[in-house]
Amino acid sequence: MAQYNLPRGTQDFLPEKSEKVSYVEYLLKSVAGLYGYREIRTPIFEHTPLFLRSVGESSDIVNKEMYTFLDKSDRSITLRPEGTAGVIRAFVENKMYATPDFPVKLFYYGPVFRYERPKAGRYRQLNQFGFECIGVNSPYADAELILMITSIVSMLGIKDFKIKINSIGDKESREAYKDALREYFKPHLSTMCEDCKRRYEQNPLRILDCKVDSNHEAVLNAPKINDYLNEKSLKYFNDVIVLLNKYGIPYELDSSLVRGLDYYSDTVFEIVATAPSGQDYGAIGAGGRYDGLVEEIGGPSLPAVGMAFGLERLVLLLDEYHLLDDVKSKLDVYVMPVGKESMDLAFEVTTFLRSNGFKTEIDYQNRSIKSQFKTVERMEAPIAVIIGEEEVKNGTANVKNTLTKEQVTIPLSQLLPCIDTLLRTMEEPDNHECGCGCGHHHDDHECCCGHDHGEEHECCCGHDHDDDHECKCGHNH
Ligand code: AMP
Repeated sequence: MAQYNLPRGTQDFLPEKSEKVSYVEYLLKSVAGLYGYREIRTPIFEHTPLFLRSVGESSDIVNKEMYTFLDKSDRSITLRPEGTAGVIRAFVENKMYATPDFPVKLFYYGPVFRYERPKAGRYRQLNQFGFECIGVNSPYADAELILMITSIVSMLGIKDFKIKINSIGDKESREAYKDALREYFKPHLSTMCEDCKRRYEQNPLRILDCKVDSNHEAVLNAPKINDYLNEKSLKYFNDVIVLLNKYGIPYELDSSLVRGLDYYSDTVFEIVATAPSGQDYGAIGAGGRYDGLVEEIGGPSLPAVGMAFGLERLVLLLDEYHLLDDVKSKLDVYVMPVGKESMDLAFEVTTFLRSNGFKTEIDYQNRSIKSQFKTVERMEAPIAVIIGEEEVKNGTANVKNTLTKEQVTIPLSQLLPCIDTLLRTMEEPDNHECGCGCGHHHDDHECCCGHDHGEEHECCCGHDHDDDHECKCGHNH
């Protein structure tokens, strides 16, 4: 048993999982670029008051879930519990608002920390990939963000998903709604949890996403925000919905969706998907409009809309659908020195192949050819380059296609084109290019040996093409 264990709610990403997460990050980054988002990196910790101000003192995150500590100079520091606050702090601090070109679109990714109760898909250190679109208040901006994330989810291969969407209105609408909620919950308070009693005072909206009282009769029958939206908020929300309809976004109106962070206004949404196992991992992403936050943090009054994906949940889901099975860093070539004398040349060949962009590994242990082939199999290397004493003497190498088991002996000068062509033929099995590395198509008579198979009989593969029609590429010329 290991002497030290992971802290609860955290996980090690071993290479296989890291590669999957990196792949998802890579795809998200590409799509972000397509929509004009640029990357921003902010510190993993910030001064605590930033989160009190932005995420909000009435939120569960601030009240119960932050990793807050005093540093050695007695400053209160908090590991970021979400990404938006830091991004907006950086936006304001670096005066990124001093531009005539709005919106400013930023994306970020990295770990965030919440002291939550861990369960499937819920961690204490999690990775978010977020998008912030700052400076524009337009239903088109909300729709664009939702369109972008639905295209990301579809591109990843998830078919069964939907956007749950609601409006929590502008400040005026929310104040009216909060008054109505206070009025409504007053007679029920004595039967509600201690947190809800605090929420009642601080922000009764938070009662609606209480995890303890979620099935409380009073919560289930509470008034809905939709009845308190003023004309402006109602129109804004309708305009967003019209756009979602126009672009065929699978959405569901959810009047109970209020989101757990205090800075949201108007449009709020979550993206939920069904896992084949039936396991509920929770939303794979969530976000909304936050028109007051930039000003709240000391910047000018600028509207904004954003969202964040939870990368762990996304990967859990993609894994269940087997959509990441092929995401694995694979070798191109395994170099097999056979006999001590060949190690030097084999190492030289390995270095040469790597410097030419081929993912190459070599056996360092002078093992038997049988053991080395077992490694080739385990590593799923499509090509093995075998170098024995004979090859050292002749300046040649044996190149084996581990899929077809065909093997050829070629001069070292032909190694690069040979491997390059072999790999390309493996990627495109229908492609007619010869596998011997000559780079020619089969209609083309010249082989890598420089001979024309129509006239001269012996090829570099040692076969006579007149009698024996099969070339080392396995095809008949
Ligand atoms: P939020 O910042 O709360 O809006 O969350 C955005 C997304 O992050 C959620 O939709 C989840 O996918 C993910 N997420 C939030 N909290 C957790 C958690 N504790 N563990 C794993 N993923 C989370």
